[in-house]
Amino acid sequence: MIHFEDKTINFHQLFSLNKSCKFCPECDLIIGQKAEIDDSLKQIVASPPFNLQINPNDYFVFGTLEKKDWLKIQKEKNTQKSTLDLVHPFIDTLDFEIQPAGWYPAGS
Ligand SMILES: [Zn+2]
Repeated sequence: MIHFEDKTINFHQLFSLNKSCKFCPECDLIIGQKAEIDDSLKQIVASPPFNLQINPNDYFVFGTLEKKDWLKIQKEKNTQKSTLDLVHPFIDTLDFEIQPAGWYPAGS
């Protein structure tokens, strides 16, 4: 579940991407790639009913939905409040950067 906001046009919206991500049960981590989320969000914002030609980079991902709850939200026209009641908020978020394989000086 994503909260997106563009203050220049006074627009804010909750989005559910219906996107599956990798899950590591050992670390209890859901792993999503920012570039993939950026692309999905960009497509949604540019499509009806929004039709906005904006760069959606002012967002935060704050939780996840179970598939059954996502389907329920699609069928019923839930309010944002009732949708939020179904969200499992993340305990924490971590940023990882990929370091290309190779030899590096000690300490770097
Ligand atoms: Zn792990």
